Amino acid sequence: MSGEPRTVRGTPLELADLKKGKVFTTAYVPKIQYAWDTGVAIGRYLEELKNGRLIARRCQRCQRTMVPPRMFCERCFRSTDEWVYVQDTGTVNTFSLCYVSWDVRRLKTPEIPAVIEIDGASPGMGIMHVLGKVNPKQVRVGMRVRAVWKPPPQRTGSITDILYFAPIKGKTTKVGTAKKPR
Ligand SMILES: [Zn+2]
Repeated sequence: MSGEPRTVRGTPLELADLKKGKVFTTAYVPKIQYAWDTGVAIGRYLEELKNGRLIARRCQRCQRTMVPPRMFCERCFRSTDEWVYVQDTGTVNTFSLCYVSWDVRRLKTPEIPAVIEIDGASPGMGIMHVLGKVNPKQVRVGMRVRAVWKPPPQRTGSITDILYFAPIKGKTTKVGTAKKPR
């Protein structure tokens, strides 16, 4: 092989070419509805949210209570054993003051996503949610919070059945020190 590299050029298409029917086109509206299989653990979890309760799975070997629940313990490499209800209160493990919305609008009042260690679950075990009814300047790691639920008729079996977590007045605790369940 010698000389210049061989190139094969394509023919760029302009919108006008398409409109004039210079090339063959076909049009259809894709049907993109779909259903999402939640699986056993998250299915039950979402169902219980509708009832205004948080449910977890417990592994008897490592004695952990896991929320959100999972049917498999990744530490013990075995199935988890039982369902247990946990509280709808907890402790802020970490948080962020977010002055930009998901669609990149500037926000005057920040959204406050947070990981909340749930009471009754194992220390360090938490769920991601948002904080509400709180002065952003007063949010602290260790702040005690409680879920604020939608009224029952408005719940749909979604994590948004909890509107936000609001502070329990005057209470803080060290994270990772939640009382051992049972
Ligand atoms: Zn385990």
